[in-house]
Amino acid sequence: MSLVEQYRAHTEERAKLGIPPLPLTAEQTRSLNALLQQNPVQEKEYLLELFLEHISPGVDDAALEKAAFLDGIVKGEISCSVIDSVEAVRILGTMLGGYNVKPLIDALSNSNPAICEAASEMLKKTLLVYDAFDDVVSQSKTNKYAREVLESWAAGEWFSSRPVISEKITLTVYKVPGETNTDDLSPASEAFTRSDIPLHALCMLGSKMTDPIGTIAQLKTKGHPLAYVGDVVGTGSSRKSGINSVQWHMGTDIPAVPNKRTGGVVIGGIIAPIFFNTAEDSGALPVQADVSAMETGDVIDLYPFDGKIEKNGEVIARFELTPNTLADEVRAGGRIPLIIGRNLTRKARKTLGLGEESLFQRPEQPADTGKGYTLAQKMIGKACGLAGVRPGMYVEAETLTVGSQDTTGAMTRDEVKEFAALSFSADLVMQSFCHTSAYPKPSDITLHRNLPFFIMSRGGVSLKPGDGVIHTWLNRMVLPDTLGTGADSHTRFPIGISFPGGSGLVAFAGVTGTMPLNVPESVLVRFTGKLQNGITLRDLVNAIPWVAMKKGLLTVEKKGKKNVFAGRILEIEGLPDLKVEQAFELSDASAERSAAACTVRLDKAPVIEYLSSNIELLEQMIKEGYGDADTLRRRIGKMQDWLKNPTLLEPDADAEYAEVIEIDMSAITEPILACPNDPDDVMTLSEVLRDEKRPKVIDEVFVGSCMTNIGHFRALGEVFRGKGVASAKLWIVPPTKMDMKKLIEEGYYAIFGAAGARIEIPGCSLCMGNQARVADNAVVFSTSTRNFDNRMGTGAQVYLGSAELAAVCALLGHLPNKDEYMEIFSRHLSGSKAENIYRYLNFDKLEKAELELLVD
Ligand code: SF4
Repeated sequence: MSLVEQYRAHTEERAKLGIPPLPLTAEQTRSLNALLQQNPVQEKEYLLELFLEHISPGVDDAALEKAAFLDGIVKGEISCSVIDSVEAVRILGTMLGGYNVKPLIDALSNSNPAICEAASEMLKKTLLVYDAFDDVVSQSKTNKYAREVLESWAAGEWFSSRPVISEKITLTVYKVPGETNTDDLSPASEAFTRSDIPLHALCMLGSKMTDPIGTIAQLKTKGHPLAYVGDVVGTGSSRKSGINSVQWHMGTDIPAVPNKRTGGVVIGGIIAPIFFNTAEDSGALPVQADVSAMETGDVIDLYPFDGKIEKNGEVIARFELTPNTLADEVRAGGRIPLIIGRNLTRKARKTLGLGEESLFQRPEQPADTGKGYTLAQKMIGKACGLAGVRPGMYVEAETLTVGSQDTTGAMTRDEVKEFAALSFSADLVMQSFCHTSAYPKPSDITLHRNLPFFIMSRGGVSLKPGDGVIHTWLNRMVLPDTLGTGADSHTRFPIGISFPGGSGLVAFAGVTGTMPLNVPESVLVRFTGKLQNGITLRDLVNAIPWVAMKKGLLTVEKKGKKNVFAGRILEIEGLPDLKVEQAFELSDASAERSAAACTVRLDKAPVIEYLSSNIELLEQMIKEGYGDADTLRRRIGKMQDWLKNPTLLEPDADAEYAEVIEIDMSAITEPILACPNDPDDVMTLSEVLRDEKRPKVIDEVFVGSCMTNIGHFRALGEVFRGKGVASAKLWIVPPTKMDMKKLIEEGYYAIFGAAGARIEIPGCSLCMGNQARVADNAVVFSTSTRNFDNRMGTGAQVYLGSAELAAVCALLGHLPNKDEYMEIFSRHLSGSKAENIYRYLNFDKLEKAELELLVD
């Protein structure tokens, strides 16, 4: 079948779903290039439309073919009757950056002035030039067209030529009542379609609203753009696919960029901070305002600068356009394009000896209080070359460690391509395959084959399918007191600090080694007292919302929800001797609090122990052929440097917090659980048993996820030793292959087998719920991170709690009472037994042969 027949058939197939065809592949682009060289060109209009609008820009393989073809036309090496050399330059200029940049810069010195002129005009609007900036500077000394480019960048014409955000925006409301989490917008079960934005957008809100796509189509007939309106919007994960789907339905096309849209308006009573940032990055306008007077179908007028929303001429809500740079961000096409362009303008002005520009709104910076800094404020300060930062400050922080997982990896890859980047500047970028390795679809297999090369060829580190959960690995690569990010909302380092972001921000951080941050306030959680027998770290995790609720700082109800942690940094102290593996349980769960980030104050000893172990792991990874070896070696070197003089930042005694919550561990005398289906809905075991509406019989138990470590599985094994088959269906999934092999070696898999457990390969498994799932409507006890509706199984009711309580539930088939639990815990898991159970993987203490076996 010819390209044209093939692509038309594909277009018709996709049209049946109401979506456009996929962009052309590199091979299809080569075929298209050949057709465009025929004389005469058959079906000229159709082929030109394919060439102009259906090839992804940046450093996509197809973009390489397109740019080379156009370069050939400009240089007179390729003859094309439907694209002349000046038009070829113009088309090159629509490709955003990457493979088009060199041909455009070459064209500045073409013998044909019309070509030079066109190249100059196109480069003036091109921001993704990276090191090619120096080529323009060098040419500008002798070439007037290059000089014009430099002057235009310095004047910020790329920005001033774009329309200012309208003073009044008329919109039709599409309201999603209550809370929308990112799983509603981009279901985990459809994760494999995320990089195909139009296809993935078809499942937006599918399990939450009745016929959302039909309703949206019908609302569009009113002739106005739609606004996404909700009480609480974007809770949960950092997935950019959520905003991608909103923008696909409510945004505007981007010329010459297929299957992606920008713009759009999101209005939320509360907009979750990561979602807010992702919206900003993507060119949407997020507004936090009272939405109680807005209903689906209402036509409203939004006045961004006056900060009001009107319906039928009456003001129904007021808001503040914040941050103060938001209007500039929307004008530039997003926060990220604004940062890149602003930096380009500054660089050009510096080169030309010009002073500071006055074109862009300066980020508002708070007054210095003169007080001390919190631990997080010192860590962020360190990443900015400052002693500390203040809440409300805007900074661009050095981002040393960046994580990417598989269900967002394809989007991050596409964003890296759109940034036109061929290498990473962040010190370490790591890719995992934990969400899709157990039961991969053909598209996952393709990703498993291709993504490692993409990551490693840019200097990143790639894990392999089956290696295990991203965070358990990435944490082992982190440096103390440094800053990072990741496109998984649980990227929350136990040492240092991490601000998870959408895939666009993560790609930006990976490519540039920096990330934009509006420094949030901090909430201090201070543990005091003594940990009681039978109480686990997971109970302390759940004690944080439990105590916050008692203090009136958190509510479960979504309407008018209170959450003292939302958008703030959760800083935890009072447990300095925790192993770093344990500290991650605390930091990981800060995602469920909707916190922007988390710090855990630890003593040096556990950090020294952890890094000494991790160096051995990384060295073994290099021996096993993991790449990029240079990046791993560089990270080992930095760990060794830290170990030579191990010091950790400490908060100042007079540091200021938005709230201080003290939790007396002596007062926690029984397990605390999160009830179905809300991680904030926490109760003690006795409270749950007294509550008639809570189910007590447990159908399925899941022990796994990044919230677990090897000690949890030994504890499960000890509870089951000699007990035979579990009374509830038991799922066991260790976080990494090293944990799995060690547990096998220690005989625990034999116990799990006797218990009739379903054991999966290391990875996310039921925690993500995108592959295997629990039975419909099952009552589940899980050690995983979150229990949003339908995440783990359709209609499932999921309790979240410790592995120890999970073990007892699996044994009995129901929630135990406090005495039953304490009796089993004391008999199997406490006293001298605990020392043997709660040992962590110290790779530096292993025999060489065992280390090789575990990391193999
Ligand atoms: S185990 Fe769960 S929370 Fe952790 S990375 Fe996987 S899906 Fe995310």
